[in-house]
Amino acid sequence: MRATFATFALCVCFFATFAGAQEEDFPILFTNVHVFDGVNEQRIENANVLVVDNLIVEVSSEPLAVANAQIIDGGGRTLMPGLIDSHVHINMYKDGTLPDLANTTWEEIGARAAAFGQEMLAMGFTTIRDMCGAHDGLKRVIDQGLLPGPRIYLAGGCIGQTSGHGDWGLAGQRKGESNLEMLELTRTVDGRAEVLEAGRRNFALGAHFLKIMVSGGVTSIKDPLFLSGFTDDEIRAAVETAEDWNSYVAMHVFVDYDLDRALDLGVMVVDHGLTIKEPTMQKMVEKGAFFSPNLTALASEALAHPMHQDPSFPPTAKFMSLREDSKQLTDLIKKYRPKMVFNSDYVLLTGVPYRQSMDFTKFHVAREFGNLWALQMMTSIGGELAEFTGLSNPYSEGKLGVIEEGAYADILIVDGNPLEDIMVIGANEKWFDAEPRGQDVPSIRMIMKDGVIYKNTLD
Ligand SMILES: [Zn+2]
Repeated sequence: MRATFATFALCVCFFATFAGAQEEDFPILFTNVHVFDGVNEQRIENANVLVVDNLIVEVSSEPLAVANAQIIDGGGRTLMPGLIDSHVHINMYKDGTLPDLANTTWEEIGARAAAFGQEMLAMGFTTIRDMCGAHDGLKRVIDQGLLPGPRIYLAGGCIGQTSGHGDWGLAGQRKGESNLEMLELTRTVDGRAEVLEAGRRNFALGAHFLKIMVSGGVTSIKDPLFLSGFTDDEIRAAVETAEDWNSYVAMHVFVDYDLDRALDLGVMVVDHGLTIKEPTMQKMVEKGAFFSPNLTALASEALAHPMHQDPSFPPTAKFMSLREDSKQLTDLIKKYRPKMVFNSDYVLLTGVPYRQSMDFTKFHVAREFGNLWALQMMTSIGGELAEFTGLSNPYSEGKLGVIEEGAYADILIVDGNPLEDIMVIGANEKWFDAEPRGQDVPSIRMIMKDGVIYKNTLD
């Protein structure tokens, strides 16, 4: 049975427009749409798409006669898969520095995460991969239909080492003592046994894969960027744990040497990796590993970042050296075409509403790599990574990120053609200087997730 969202009537937000627009349990037939299927540059012109319950059961350019179907005329617009952001932190939806985040409670974290989920869906993201800091509480609430939000793939608590990128304790605090560790957003572990325990604890709290900190990072204070975060044995322990759950390990990594050794040790998803060198890129592609770089860090517009206007701010020096060491990245990506997913990596420090950063990220990725590839990253390739979660995949009934028979009914209808104009999915060439906007993206006319319509402004 299809879920309904009667509670939205109470919501003073974008979703207030939703009023259970569909008849329960009737098939939905989308007509008069051009389909971008998430893969191919050629749209399927004048198509019809049939949704039964939460799945797409037919895509055809021939008319479909379906008894009792609710018909939705797309008005010649583009029907495409819901978007997938493969790197977010839903429990870190708060401006400021790490101590600001540490000075909070579960209540605030949960309330902010609920708002974040709602905003992601309003921007057309029907699936996100949470790259550590969250467990499955919000996911279950969303899946039950109590709150609007995307599907969520979870890494659980970040797994890092003492003085590493995940060690957010204040000076002098020992591991386990910081608020964020007590809240289990992050886990500081040293040695094989503690890595095993942390990984297993994450799975016990609903994680679908693991995330480890393999080198230093920008926003954290105790770790230089060049830090080699874990020993080989510790990395192997994480990989073994994930394999026990038929899943994978993703790594936070910036140093080419660490990226290279972790690939050899069985890590199959590379997050960040901006300083990757050519032989390692070659190895990553040969192994079929996924690549999830936070590309906006390298955009010239990132220099206007409000936090980076103060040279005494500790992460600023690291940010500048990272940019310097990453100049080869775009050319390497174009040469080797890794399996690259869309990564907005919103955490702290941004100083502008999340939606502005997201709008710019969409624009920047398309500017660098073209609309088709950018859209594939946000749809079918993100879906491939979701499927890579193996037997731990919480959404295994259909494919994600594609419009095809048997795929989940996660569907957008947008004005115009995003293959020609990326702005129609809400991209914006401005970032910190963008005009503030509300939660709604007017050119996204229809948002359906799991067969449920969350927005419909088709005439
Ligand atoms: Zn991140």
